[in-house]
Amino acid sequence: MPVTSREAPQTGKLIKATRNVFLVDINHRIVSCSIRGKLAGASGDKNFSLKVGDDVKARLISEEEGVIEEVLPRRSQLSRAVEGKAYREHLIATNIDQILIIMSARRPAFKSGLLDRYLVIAQKNRLNAVICINKIDLADPEEFEEYASWYPRLGYPLFFTSALRREGIDKIKSILQNKVSVLVGHSGVGKSLLLQRIEPGLDLKISSISDKTRKGRHTTTHVQLFPLSFGGYIIDTPGVRELGLWDIYRDELKDYFVEFQTFGEDCQFNNCRHIKEPGCAVKAAVGEGKIFAERYQNYKNIFNDLRAASYEMIRRR
Ligand code: GDP
Ligand code: ZN
Repeated sequence: MPVTSREAPQTGKLIKATRNVFLVDINHRIVSCSIRGKLAGASGDKNFSLKVGDDVKARLISEEEGVIEEVLPRRSQLSRAVEGKAYREHLIATNIDQILIIMSARRPAFKSGLLDRYLVIAQKNRLNAVICINKIDLADPEEFEEYASWYPRLGYPLFFTSALRREGIDKIKSILQNKVSVLVGHSGVGKSLLLQRIEPGLDLKISSISDKTRKGRHTTTHVQLFPLSFGGYIIDTPGVRELGLWDIYRDELKDYFVEFQTFGEDCQFNNCRHIKEPGCAVKAAVGEGKIFAERYQNYKNIFNDLRAASYEMIRRR
């Protein structure tokens, strides 16, 4: 593609940031950019820094080089707490559309407790979440009927794949298309094989970067967006995969179980944590089958795991 106008800035997406070099995807072309000096302070925030996922306006100075002149408003962000004395947030990436949670039907066994932990992270970051149960060739989909009926009703679409048999790949592609998605899921569920099915070659690119960053301490600083040939981006780095629950406080946990909002309004106490309090409408709803009992149990388990302060979780890890 010829450089049509060196004058007019073009809109692109920041896919990788190192200290001095910013890679921006402009219409499927990766341009190496610097920042115009005043950009840093332009937003009025002294600590402002460009983050992967930012939509920017860059002026091209050659086929492969440009200067970032402006950052467009952020639509969403994914962050985690930084280990330390005081709560400090580390912004991982911006403008994320969804979290794609990969679980497996077997090997490793499906555990809704794990799924609900990922959903808590999604909810805390106010991100949409989609659930994929892979390795369905090893199980009977009917075993997952309850999950397939409950989770979509809560706003979390759920579908099955077999990376091995190449089943459900078009479905995953349609979900990823033209969106920025964070891929999460425990080791061994089939993320690499799924990626290979979705976009051949991409899994190798990602794993070579992952191996490099795994050795470093600050894995989340190496977050990178991988463009998909059919439109959209994937974030898949060890730092993001290992997102924990350690920056979540006990008392706020109930806010991340969406269905508790509806029933919770009728609890006797307005600060009800839905554990042992009398007159708890959430517990009543569980008894009446209006709330998925397994999820309520997961809530209690996570609640117990999150002993008092979040930073105890760090030490226990
Ligand atoms: P990752 O750690 O999440 O990236 O998982 P991998 O993609 O490395 O897969 C772990 C193992 O599960 C490998 O031996 C894969 O061949 C296998 N696997 C992946 N997807 C499937 C699937 O859909 N069905 C079956 N039976 N095995 C799968
Ligand atoms: Zn209650």
